[in-house]
Amino acid sequence: MKKILNKNKLIIKLNDERYSYDVYQMFNIYYQNLKIEFHEENYEYEVIINNHGISIINEEQLWEYNISEDDNFKEEIRKGIFSYLKDKTRKVFPWGTLIGIRPSKRAMSLIKEGKSYDDIVEFYHKTSLTSEEKAKLCIEVAENELELMDEDKNKISVYIGMPYCPSKCLYCSFTSNPIGRKGKEVNEYIRTLLWEMKVTSEEIKRLNLTIDTVYFGGGTPTAVNDEQFRVVMKSIQDNFITNFDIREFTVECGRPDSITYDKLLCMKEMSVNRISINPQTMNDLTLKSIGRTHDSKDVINIFNMARELGHENINMDIIIGLPGEGLNEVKRTCEEIERLSPESITVHGLSIKRGSKLYEKLVVEKSLYIPEQHEIVEMFKQVEELSLRMNMKPYYMYRQKNMLGNMENIGYSIKGRECVYNIAMIEDTQTIIAVGANGISKFLFDNDIIERLANNKDVRTYIDKVEEITEEKVKMLRKV
Ligand code: SF4
Repeated sequence: MKKILNKNKLIIKLNDERYSYDVYQMFNIYYQNLKIEFHEENYEYEVIINNHGISIINEEQLWEYNISEDDNFKEEIRKGIFSYLKDKTRKVFPWGTLIGIRPSKRAMSLIKEGKSYDDIVEFYHKTSLTSEEKAKLCIEVAENELELMDEDKNKISVYIGMPYCPSKCLYCSFTSNPIGRKGKEVNEYIRTLLWEMKVTSEEIKRLNLTIDTVYFGGGTPTAVNDEQFRVVMKSIQDNFITNFDIREFTVECGRPDSITYDKLLCMKEMSVNRISINPQTMNDLTLKSIGRTHDSKDVINIFNMARELGHENINMDIIIGLPGEGLNEVKRTCEEIERLSPESITVHGLSIKRGSKLYEKLVVEKSLYIPEQHEIVEMFKQVEELSLRMNMKPYYMYRQKNMLGNMENIGYSIKGRECVYNIAMIEDTQTIIAVGANGISKFLFDNDIIERLANNKDVRTYIDKVEEITEEKVKMLRKV
């Protein structure tokens, strides 16, 4: 009997649900734009797992993979399914079966154990079929992180969040509220934020903690008007900069359509030593289609203005896989970025998160073009080559679920201009105290125990509950 296949779903029949997570993850690499479900009927693949290995039946063809008793069973299941799908689809996923968010973590431990380059490459291949290229990337990132990491438990970092943006980007799944007509709420938010900063700072001082880095992010910190921005910046300076020997003060201005001369000047006056101006792409058509209210010329003008005002450490973010973009668009973005010559670039693989407008368009409506896998790999190579031309090295990396092409987010920087906060945050090397809506504080206790405490995501709830959550935060900070 002919099966009725659903074009939006991939249905798998699996005999042993203990392995559903592993089976799901492997199929999800190859069928990212389909919803994967397990059912007994109308399935496309039948996966049978027993003590001896895996059998997969598809289109009446049987494929088998043996696993010996000495092998790591789950690891082998993943490798088996991954290899089967690779042969079937002819697609190349260079990370292999690796799906963790910190792929360089193992490289770091192996370097600390004194393992050689070849040993580490071999380890990645043997355990997860990761390509030599990606294993090398892990080694480079781990080496740079080891050089930059400061594991002094008395040092902390501070994160301040601004949950507003000039408009909502198509792919966004962060806390970002288009600032539009929110005038009254924004004033109330700022008042609350100033209060939370003051209370947090008093406690940090009382506990004699050292602030190592300060990161102002969002949303978009510069989404508010010049006057409001100055008020917030002055408070950050009074509470977390003055009287501390800060290594790094970053403002992730982000959207060029929110940056003004006065804000750039203000940041210079308040000792900001790293800013981020994020074009994501330098193609005007794409900028328009993702909901940005600026074009590539605005990026160039703001960048040059920042340089004229003396900003000497500028990062630029790029996204690979934006709707409608192929290799040529990425090449163009790389050329424009190279002309501007920032000190660092952060490359994000597009993450297709449920809840974003992009998910609806790509996965549900299927109304947007998704590049082929080989094209995605090539686009990442373009950016890697750009980093080499600009004398940058990869220094931090993380991966997310549902990243287009199962690739990575990676920060490249010229030596001495890396973002130390990013490393502390990804590698959990410092306690991070977060203030503002959706700020997530991370407390590092002895024995490497980490606890998280999240401020409310919704601005109204954040304002209403700030005293409660700040009290909780102060209690946790006293235990660090
Ligand atoms: S600028 Fe960033 S936070 Fe704001 S809407 Fe765009 S993706 Fe979301």
